[in-house]
Formats: sequence, structure tokens, C-alpha cells
Amino acid sequence: MQHDFPLTLHHVLDRMRTLNADAEVVTLRTAEGTRTRATFAEVAARVDLLAGALQVRGIGEGDRVGTFAWNSQEHIELYLAIPCIGSVLHTLNIRLFPEQLAYVANHARDRVIFVDDSLVPILEKVAPLLETVELFVVIGDGPTGALEPVVRYDDLLAEATPVQAYPQIDERAAAALCYTSGTTGNPKGVLYSHRSTLLHSMAAGLADTFGVNRSDRILPIVPQFHANAWGLIYAAGLFGASLIQPGRFLQAEPLVALIESEKVTFAAAVPTIWMDILNHLDAHPDADVSSIRLAPCGGAAVPPALMKALEERHGVEILHAWGMTETSPLGVVARPPADAVGDARWSAKSSQGRPVPLVELRIVDEEGVVQPWDGVAAGEMQVRGPWIASGYYLNDESADRFDQGWLRTGDVASVDPQGYVRISDRSKDIIKSGGEWVSSVELENELMAHDAVREAAVIAIPDERYTERPLACVVLHEGRAATVNELRDHLVGRVAKWWIPESFAFVAEVPKTSVGKFDKKVLRQQLTDGELSVQRYDTAAQQVSL
Ligand code: AMP
Repeated sequence: MQHDFPLTLHHVLDRMRTLNADAEVVTLRTAEGTRTRATFAEVAARVDLLAGALQVRGIGEGDRVGTFAWNSQEHIELYLAIPCIGSVLHTLNIRLFPEQLAYVANHARDRVIFVDDSLVPILEKVAPLLETVELFVVIGDGPTGALEPVVRYDDLLAEATPVQAYPQIDERAAAALCYTSGTTGNPKGVLYSHRSTLLHSMAAGLADTFGVNRSDRILPIVPQFHANAWGLIYAAGLFGASLIQPGRFLQAEPLVALIESEKVTFAAAVPTIWMDILNHLDAHPDADVSSIRLAPCGGAAVPPALMKALEERHGVEILHAWGMTETSPLGVVARPPADAVGDARWSAKSSQGRPVPLVELRIVDEEGVVQPWDGVAAGEMQVRGPWIASGYYLNDESADRFDQGWLRTGDVASVDPQGYVRISDRSKDIIKSGGEWVSSVELENELMAHDAVREAAVIAIPDERYTERPLACVVLHEGRAATVNELRDHLVGRVAKWWIPESFAFVAEVPKTSVGKFDKKVLRQQLTDGELSVQRYDTAAQQVSL
């Protein structure tokens, strides 16, 4: 038998203090590029102070502590101090609507909320609705607004004595809590245990996943409130990769400047951010992003055209990955077979990928029958494993999302014999035309492969004959034009003929969710409200009625 010790985040903190002491945290602080730097050893010392300060205020085991913040050094300190004193880190999504924000903070019963000064104006509007918050802590020296009672982060640390001893924690105790961005109903909470978080961090170091290692300089563009920045903070702490924190500067220009000047090796973001970065790089061919070894991208299907353009024109290799808040989020990663070249390589890379070790996956049809991995049979993807949620936090209504330990993801997919998963849709977004499924994801990917198309989101439009038909909502690149005819021609031979939409809406922007994904719920509402100007291709007259 082996020696055993609880798999808690103390181990990450210890490694930051000792083995990984020299790795650094860089935080971008101003639009002009001012940044602060601290070594992991310095960060660990501040974590001890923060932990001491919280304990003195009576915050301890099981208490929920909220953060309402961008990615920064302080937010990393909170990521470690809160779980290591046995409290639960609750990352609040700064882009939630006020009612949703109040709902999650009240549901979680947050006792303290740490907030960036730049976000005080948002939080202070919600503050009167918060039922359990006893203290606000403002990070930075901007106004504290109407928040009350309030202290400043720096004062808290200046007055603190370092924690004497961290409590021993059961590895299955909660470390963090994150609510799903939930497209319908109230957001649902997902609890991560110390054990699940540590195991998940180990998985991020595997060569066939992210391969996070000591040579990495990681830029988590994905916010710390989106599934714990995909686990990158803890993985970096464990393996000794430096972290480059972009603060609130999430536009392509400052991000590219940060990549260049900090020699970032690894940058993770949702596809919409990579689209912005691609446009910026195309317009600034001198930008040098050659330090990037890997650019994980997920949260939504990555258009193959985006992947190819970034790799072929700018040397940035995208790694497509699938995950959910419920899966911590690492679930499926698209590493192509070593010998795959050309189309075979791109085909594997544009799938969602293969399940990572310790994640089990199955496809189940509408009758509950498990489907073969033949690349054709489709159904709901279900997953389970040590970092996959087995229930939502204090929420009995959603018990039907789980089936004997399997998480029902709500994603419709097929799996090929090599284990590559291909998602055709989110079940809520499915378009059923004449009784057959049309994959909105595939249509979007092919539309976005057109030179003039910047963004494309496909939703269902009611149809007398076929019940539903696809409606393509398209954003064109600035200064570019494309007619409905051209777009339809472009789709010929790329998708099944009967999938090709007759209806198009040219829009200025596809609405985005709080974590930057296409928001089809809003598009559907706009369609219902008559706000989309839909152009129909008249199949009888063979021309477009504008
Ligand atoms: P969230 O918990 O907000 O990150 O949302 C999780 C959902 O995002 C999944 O259930 C999928 O519908 C979608 N998603 C995440 N990654 C991908 C991907 N690589 N391809 C397609 N959909 C994805």
C-alpha cells in the first residue's frame, strides 16, 4: 500500500512557495501597458496574509467567499487563500444581469465579496439585494462607491498577520463554486472539491491535453469566473508555469501586445476572442506571436476556417477542446493522431476531440439506448469521472440532468471508432427540418469559411412545410460584401443540399453570452420580435427578394 495524503490545494500552494518559487505572475494594469510582477514565492506569502486576514474575521470552513473580478494577481491569491482555509471560492460572473447576480450570491450565501475597483459601479447596484454579505473588499484604490461595510484589499493585507497553520481539510470538501452561465432559468451551481480540482490540474499537465509545464508562460484570456479559467491557475501553480493576467484588457490589441512582450507560450480563449485576434493579426502582419506553442480554444465549436487561418497565416496552433462548467471543464481534447497530415489532421483537429484520461463518455439516443462509436450514430453525449459534477449545488429540480453518475450534457454528438467526438448541436439549438436534423454548427463552420463572413450563427425559423428551416444570421467583415446567392453557392457541395438555408439575416453583430459565446437565445427572441430583417431566397424565382 502507498502512503496517502488528502489531495487538497495546499499541495499547489506548497509547490508555489518552494519548487515553483521563481515562476511569476504578471498583471496588466493600465491601457498604456503598465504591469506588476510578483514571483510565486511572493504570491504565496501574500496568500498567507490573506488567509490570516480572513480567519481573523471569522471566515472559515465551509463559508462561501465571492470574487467579482478580472484575471489578476489578487484573483490568484484569492484562488488559493480561500480554499486553503477551508472556505469555498465562489467566482461571480461579472457579466450576469443584476437579478441573476443577486440570485447566485444569495443562493450561495456568500459572506464576503472581493471586487475589483473598476467593477464597483456594477456591484453597488446589486448590493442592496444581497442578503448574506457581511463585508466587501475592494481591490485597487478606486472609489468604493456605495459598498458598505467595506475595506480595501491592500489594507486588509497590510494589517494582517500570516496564517499560523492551514487547517487540515478533507479532500472531498468543497474548494470552489461556479454557477453555469445558464441559458434558461436560474444559474445552477457546480461545486468543485479539493480532490477534483487537484486531479483536474494533473490532467492539464498531460502531453495529450494541454501539457502545462515549467517552461510555459500562460495567458488565461478565459476569465477566472468561467469554469475557473479552465483550471489553468491551479495547473500553473502545480507545474510552475508563469501566469500572465490580462486584467480587464481583453481586446485584441492589448492581448497581442501582451503576447509579444511577455513571450506568452500558451493562450486560452473562446472562439470569438480568437476571431478578434485573427482580424488584428491580419491587419498587423508585423506582430510577432511566434512564442505561442499552443492556443486552447473551446466553450463553443471552433470554426475550422478560424483554426486554419491562425495556423497558416500566423503560426498559432489552436487546440480545440470541449468542456462545461460541470466538467471542471476539461473533458474532450482534439489532439490529432501523430501520423495525420493534411485533411486528416484538420478533420481530427476540428472535431471536439477524444475524452481525456479519467473521463468516460457515451452517446445515448432519445430512447435511452447507448450508441456505437461508428462516427454516424448521434445522440446526447454523457460523461462521468472524478472531476465531472454528479449534481448541482442545493438544486433538486435539475436531478434529471444526471443519470446514475452520468452527466447529461445536452450536447448532441457522434463518436468515431478512434474516439473523436463531433458535436452537431446543443439539444436546445437543434433545427429539425422535415423530421431530419440540420447541424447548425456545421452550417456555421462552412459559412465562416467564406472570406467575407466574420461571424455566422444559425437558428431555426418556423416553416409551414418543413416545420423548421435554418436561418443564417451573418456578420460580414468590414468593407466586404456578399449576397445571399453567393453564400448559398458557397455552401453547395459543403453541406447536404437540403440544409442550405433560404433565409438569411445580415446583422451588425451576433449577440454574445456573458462568457463570449454566440447567444442564440437572444437571436431567437429578436426573430420572434421581428427585429431581424430576414432576406429570403426565392426558390421559385431563383433570385433573392431584398
Ligand atoms: P459552459 O459551462 O458555459 O462553458 O457551457 C458548456 C457548453 O458549451 C457545452 O455543453 C457545449 O454546448 C458548449 N461547448 C463547450 N465547448 C465546446 C466545443 N468545443 N464545441 C462545441 N460546443 C462546446
